Order: sequence, then structure tokens, then C-alpha cells
Amino acid sequence: MTAPAPGPPGAPILRRTPADAPFFDAAARGELLIRGCPACAYALPMDAYACPHPEHPPGADGLGWLPASGRGTLVSWSSVHRAPHPAFAGQVPYTIALVELDEGPWLEARLVGADPAGLRAGLRLRAAFVHPADPADGESFPVFAPDHPTPDHPTPLATGDPAP
Ligand SMILES: [Zn+2]
Repeated sequence: MTAPAPGPPGAPILRRTPADAPFFDAAARGELLIRGCPACAYALPMDAYACPHPEHPPGADGLGWLPASGRGTLVSWSSVHRAPHPAFAGQVPYTIALVELDEGPWLEARLVGADPAGLRAGLRLRAAFVHPADPADGESFPVFAPDHPTPDHPTPLATGDPAP
């Protein structure tokens, strides 16, 4: 399995808007940001419009960004066998994961470095970032891969694993 190319020839190019510029600036640094309420630090999904606390200001201007650990758990996944755009024909099949971040919100992202036949709900995942070689090819973006243990981040038990 190969990591997705940031911009295969002819592909739609991922471009920032003023509203999501902080997200892409962080992705370029290899950091994951999620939406959050600046009044209470409540972590929210990427498409959230307001904090669930009614006294906190609603709307895009009322929300901020929070740093996320980049770690989460596989909730579900889908294998894509038919390219959604001709430019991605060389990348199929690939896997789209629904990830529950450790902070709570769910997001969708490409899953890399994993055999789809071996996937199971509860698999621990870690964000990685795809960086285009040329800024003209678009923004850096997160993907997720199995969270293999490293000396500073031993892999915790995945949800559903039996106790040792
Ligand atoms: Zn709030």
C-alpha cells in the first residue's frame, strides 16, 4: 500500500479557505488541530457550528482550534475500488477510515499502512501527514496509520482487546 500522493496530475487540488487556514498551517507542521470552544475547550467535530453549552458563542467566529494528540481508534472503514476522479485511478483500492480521536470527535481520513483484510474496529491509529513537494499542489493533510509502538509511545490496548 502506498501513501496517497498530494496531487496526482489533474487531481482536484486541496485549497485552504480563511476559515480553515489554521488547520492547514498546523498540518504543514505535522500537527493535527480540531475544532474547539475557546470558552470551555470542548472538542468538537470539524463541521461543528457551536459549543453544546448554550451560553458560549455560536457560529464559526465563536469556535477556535484545539491541538489534538493525533491518536485515535478505528470506528469503521470503507475500501474504495472505483476512483472518484480519474486522477486517482492509480491509487485504488484505498481505504477511508472513520476515526474516533482520543479527544472525542470523529473524522474521516485515508488509512495507510494497513492491510484492509486485517482491519478491526478498535484498532489504534496515529495521524501522519502528506506534504506536497510543491505548494502549487495544494495543502498538507492528515492520514492515519496503525499506531505501532515506539519507545516514547507504547501502543495501549485497543478497544475490545482482552485484558492481558
Ligand atoms: Zn463551550
